[in-house]
Amino acid sequence: MPEFQTSPGMRDILAPESARWRRFVQVFADTVEAAGYEQIIPPLLEDIGVFSRVGEATDVVTKEMYDFVDKGERHVALRPEQTASVCRAYVQHRPTLPWKAWYSGPNFRYEKPQRGRYRQFDQVGIEVLGPTDPAVDVEVIALGWRFFQSLGLQKVTLRLNSLGEPADRQRYTEALRQHFTARSSELADETRATLARNPLRVLDSNRSEDADVLKSAPRIDDFYSPAASEHFAQVRAGLDALDIPYTRDERLVRGLDYYRFTTFEYAGGTLDSAQNALGGGGRYDGLVEDLGGPATPGVGFALGLDRTLLACDDEGVFSAAPSVVDVFVIDTTGGLEATVLTDQFRAAGLRADRAYDNRSMKSQMKAADRSNARVAVIIGTDERANQQAVVRPMNGGEQFTVTRSTLLDSVLRAVRAESSPTPKESQ
Ligand code: AMP
Repeated sequence: MPEFQTSPGMRDILAPESARWRRFVQVFADTVEAAGYEQIIPPLLEDIGVFSRVGEATDVVTKEMYDFVDKGERHVALRPEQTASVCRAYVQHRPTLPWKAWYSGPNFRYEKPQRGRYRQFDQVGIEVLGPTDPAVDVEVIALGWRFFQSLGLQKVTLRLNSLGEPADRQRYTEALRQHFTARSSELADETRATLARNPLRVLDSNRSEDADVLKSAPRIDDFYSPAASEHFAQVRAGLDALDIPYTRDERLVRGLDYYRFTTFEYAGGTLDSAQNALGGGGRYDGLVEDLGGPATPGVGFALGLDRTLLACDDEGVFSAAPSVVDVFVIDTTGGLEATVLTDQFRAAGLRADRAYDNRSMKSQMKAADRSNARVAVIIGTDERANQQAVVRPMNGGEQFTVTRSTLLDSVLRAVRAESSPTPKESQ
């Protein structure tokens, strides 16, 4: 075993998976930029206070943070998520409202690694700061939905809830505390610990011991203010108007403490339910204020790249495509011809590669095969002497000899012919 390997929960992403990751982010960027969102690239590391505002009662903050004191005695942390950073950036730069931002990149949480759960994992997400309009909630939820559709996913489901206004949420939390405390002897030990930290999170429990106590728990619907009911009704009407199917899930409270009003979660259609949450979000009127800014409503979501790609694997969509080279130059005369020709082909917009170390013809042909090239260009001693080149379609077509002055045109034509779909593929 080599002396150094990636740390637990951290991975190298090699080709062709790395190209798939890049395409994933590109499809996301295309989806949300078409809706007026602009990219923000926050730093990986921030003052720990930025993240602790997210919720002292969450595991993300209490147990999973990668934090340390830096050489300047600052207590910093690798970001466990990016919503807090986006809000901190808003307070710092004050872009004009409404501010519609998207992001992508890695986050860090010290979790127990397993399939679909890593210590470094990538997310893409959007945030809208400014409007309280339920139309924004609908836009945000719909963009996530449309993104999954663009990837080809058909089994994603959407769950929706509202936590009401802060005062509603508070009264509801208090009612839950009383209910669960009165029957705490019936709850699992771990659930009792959750109850002490945050009664709302008890609703997340899937433990069978807790089922009865949960069933008789107070319902959030009875705590909505008229404004909260109206907001929720409009979100639902918007989703209905867009034909986006969802199920109402009264127990969907989401992990982070700052959610108000709308919360939602997307789940993959696979059986492995522990890891099938692809992403989620909600409204968080209050976070910007907590970070020292003026009261500014916000709504957004974060989607896990790793889990969404696992869902793609399960549904057999958005697969990794092996990289394809247009033209591979085989030069048995020393290599300088290959240096010049690959440069010319690349300048003409072709993906061009070659072999190195002056290998034999046979070994260079093998390399051409491995590269999945559509066309090989062969320069041997005769071709060099006569200012010619052999063009060989790699799909089994007849090879032919051309002069150097017509080589580029011939290669472009041959690449085009090789890349047009065969009748079978185009069916
Ligand atoms: P959260 O920020 O906790 O709401 O998570 C949003 C999404 O990020 C989840 O639904 C997952 O898809 C993804 N995610 C969160 N934590 C991890 C992790 N440790 N490893 C992989 N993906 C994660």
